[in-house]
Parts: sequence; structure tokens; C-alpha cells
Amino acid sequence: MNLLSRGLLAGASLASRTWPVAGRIFREKLEIDENRSVWAASTPDYRSGPPLIGDTTADLAIIGGGFTGTSTAYHFSRRYPEKRVLLLEAATLANGASGRNGGMTLNGLPLDPPPNPAVDALVYATTNAGIDTIEEIIRRHSLPVSYRRDGTLSVFTSAQRAEAAHAKAEYQRSIGLPTQFIDRADLTGRFRLEGAHGAILDPNSGQLNGAQYVRSQRPVLVEQGVEIYERTPVPKVEEGRTITLTTPNGTVRAQAIVLATNGYTSKLGYFRDALFPVVSHVFATAPLDPAQQLGWRQWAGFYDDMDRISYSSITKEGQVVFGGGSPLGSVYNFNNGTRFNGSPAQATRISASIEAAFQRYTPGGRGVPIVQRWSGTLGLTLCRNILMGVRGEFRNVFYAVGYNGHGVTLANVAGQLLTDMYSGDDEKWRGLPFYQDSYTRIPPEPFRWAGYELFTRLAGHLPRY
Ligand SMILES: Cc1cc2nc3c(=O)[nH]c(=O)nc-3n(C[C@H](O)[C@H](O)[C@H](O)COP(=O)(O)OP(=O)(O)OC[C@H]3O[C@@H](n4cnc5c(N)ncnc54)[C@H](O)[C@@H]3O)c2cc1C
Repeated sequence: MNLLSRGLLAGASLASRTWPVAGRIFREKLEIDENRSVWAASTPDYRSGPPLIGDTTADLAIIGGGFTGTSTAYHFSRRYPEKRVLLLEAATLANGASGRNGGMTLNGLPLDPPPNPAVDALVYATTNAGIDTIEEIIRRHSLPVSYRRDGTLSVFTSAQRAEAAHAKAEYQRSIGLPTQFIDRADLTGRFRLEGAHGAILDPNSGQLNGAQYVRSQRPVLVEQGVEIYERTPVPKVEEGRTITLTTPNGTVRAQAIVLATNGYTSKLGYFRDALFPVVSHVFATAPLDPAQQLGWRQWAGFYDDMDRISYSSITKEGQVVFGGGSPLGSVYNFNNGTRFNGSPAQATRISASIEAAFQRYTPGGRGVPIVQRWSGTLGLTLCRNILMGVRGEFRNVFYAVGYNGHGVTLANVAGQLLTDMYSGDDEKWRGLPFYQDSYTRIPPEPFRWAGYELFTRLAGHLPRY
């Protein structure tokens, strides 16, 4: 850990002592904007369901209708067809990150922990099985979902980092993973990325249209007995043996709940000292004809090794989705703001900076028409640990949050883990690093915003230790 990170940690720990006072001053408000992504645009016929009106009860009430919420509803209702399951979504299904992301179904974790062959192999096997399950669900229910599974690249932008990546790929192969290192010369001929010194290919990863995946599961879930209420924000949770959820037009008394609210979770009063939302900006090009494919047709996408990570994937239909790639590309808003609330001039500057990152990688992409621009909210932890588990005096508040931009696969795995945890049949998950994991505390406002701004300016990257 360098001096700056040590300073960050010490400052965060000191400022965290002010939670009892400062945490009360800065009240948070649930803010949800409309999903304007290319993925949402591909579900023009989706009609959201009714809101909850009146008072009701549930065995399990799930808050949030993204991958985490729907995967929990799916696996739980199959395991317990006799139980009453409600899903409450503030806006529409897939309105959050699940319907706004870069689309890559990735294996592994957002940040590699120190090598541990048994754990690393288990994590890969778990996420890979998670992608298998996504495919299986699509097939089983004939869901109209565009997806591909022909591999993604983790790209390295300096010779030194590429060399370290080569060693990492060797290690991964030695523990049985199918990943492989691709050197610069080989890469140039197969996936033209300017400035890439090498890459690790994971042939089992791919791309998924999250809005189609989540929204097309609605009738399946309803058929399995899940009651889905959209346009139903939950502003308040009152814990107890029976938990009370208050919504604008009704209440739910539930025996257990699931926090499936990722970047929005602090609005419910949970994990306020663990998670901070970052708003990331993305665009999509028009479908490119084969002559214009920029040499990107072979694999589903890539992400790079920069802290302000560039991530990009290409749909089966030929649309390139590209996000991040600049300090403007992902932003923390004061008091955990979960929507982009900048001016049109700021939006233009942000778009220009992301397009510049795209063109750095793809000089041939100049002039490619951009048809959609949007932003989405990630949930980050300072240590980049993902948090899945159960909490509360009555052990009935289940949660899976903090995917750190790596949740397309993992948030779909979450439903299986939480269902097993509810059943007490969770032995197989216990060796995973995100099972009941701990986290580094982050301070309340105004220290959080000030610390974030100071650190990002000094270090040039997002706070992390
Ligand atoms: C721009 C962007 C690019 C990304 N790219 C990738 C990628 O390429 N690969 C990858 O693996 N990961 C990526 N991610 C991360 C991934 O999309 C997320 O980790 C994952 O979608 C999280 O799913 P979720 O269901 O937990 O949360 P979300 O999809 O955010 O769903 C939470 C839902 O809860 C609802 N909600 C919130 N609060 C309340 C409340 N109080 N009451 C009722 N409803 C509420 C919200 O409206 C929302 O629909 C990206 C994320 C973003 C934002």
C-alpha cells in the first residue's frame, strides 16, 4: 500500500468516527432517473406492471428489480413454490445498472485478491457456472435475449503490465483455468486495439443484453408465483421478526427481505458506511456493417487495466457499447447521488471525453455514428469487496450488493447463493471471498465527498486501498 492509500485509510477511519452525528445531518433521498440505454431501447414493447396498492404480507420481499432481485425471485420461487414472494421495484425492471451496463458477462472478481489456487479456481468455477445458468434460463424459457459467449479480453496498456499479465495467465493455466495470454503481435491481427501491449482472453465470458434478460423473465416469474410491483419505491424498512416495508400506497409485512438495490442501498439506511455510488457514462454506436467492424467481431468485448477503466462490448447485431475511459467518465456525486445531475454542457464534455477514449483505442472508429448515450449507477466498496450475506437481529435481512462494476454474472449468481443461505444449505458458498465478507468503512459527508475529490485529484484514480 502506498503512502497516499495509507493516508486515505487513516483519514477515512478517523472521519468515520463522526458517523453518529454527521450521518444524521446529511439525509439521503432516493433518486432514480429513466434508463436511456441501448439495452432499454431494445425492449420497446415492455409494459411495466402495476404498483403495490394496499397492505399485504410476504414470506420474502425483494427490494429491487435488477439481476440480483430477479435472480433471487427466480431461484427462490422454484425452490419454495408454496411461499409468497414479492418483488418491489422503484421504477421498472432493469431500470438500474442491470439494464444500463457495458454488457459483459465476466468471470472472476473485480479485483484479484492475493493468489490462492483453491479460492481462485473456486471463484472461476462459480462465476462460470453462473454464466451457464444465465444461458440455461434463456434456453429453458425461450427468452428473446441477445447474448454471445465467445470470450472477452482484459487488455494491458503498458509493456510492463502486459508482462505481469503473461505471468498471471500462466498461473491461471497452472490451476486449470482456460484463460490465455495473447501477445501484442497476435492481438494486432485479431482485435485491433491501438496501444494494447497484450491481453488475457477468457474464452468463457461474453455479452448479455441485460434489459432483455431481466424484462423477459417477468412472465416466467409471475408464472412461478412471484408478485411483481413496479413503480413501487420502498423508502423505509422497519426491522423485526416480521419486517415492515412502507411504500407510497401500501405496506408489506415480510418474514424476510432481500436488499437487491446495489448502488442505491444507502437510501434504505443500509451499508451507508460501506458503499458509495459512482455514476458511469456509456454510449452505443449504430450497428456497424462488416467492413466497418474495426476488427472487433471476433470476441464479445474488452476492458482495460486503467483505474478509470474503459469497457466495451459489441452486440451480435454489431453495435459497439463503450464506457468509462476518462476521469469524467465515472463520477461520485455529493451525498451518494445516484443520477447524473450535471448541466447539458457537462454532458457534452463527458461524451467528448469518452469518445476520445474510444478513438484512442480505435482510430478507425472516428465518424462512426453514436445513437445512444446514457449513464448508470455502480455500487463501489473502498476495498472492492463484494458483499453477500444475511444480517439483522433476526437474521432475516438478506443482501447482495457492491459488485464494483463486475456484477452482470455475480448479481445473477447472488440469487442462488441467497436462496441457499435462506435454506441453510449454503456449504458450497462458504469458501468464496464474498460470502459474509467484511468491508473497509467509509466516512459520512462532507468528509466522503471531500476525501473522494482530494484523493482522485492527487492519485488520478478512484479511492481504493
Ligand atoms: C455503466 C455501467 C457499466 C457496467 N458494465 C458492466 C459490465 O460490462 N460487466 C459487469 O459484470 N458489470 C458491469 N456493471 C455492473 C453491473 O451492471 C451491476 O453490478 C449489476 O447490474 C447490479 O445488479 P443489481 O440488480 O444488484 O442492481 P441494479 O441493476 O442497479 O438494480 C437495483 C434496482 O433496485 C431498484 N431500487 C433501488 N432502490 C430501491 C428502493 N428503495 N425501492 C425499490 N426499488 C429500489 C432500482 O430502481 C434498480 O432497478 C456495469 C454497471 C454500470 C452502471
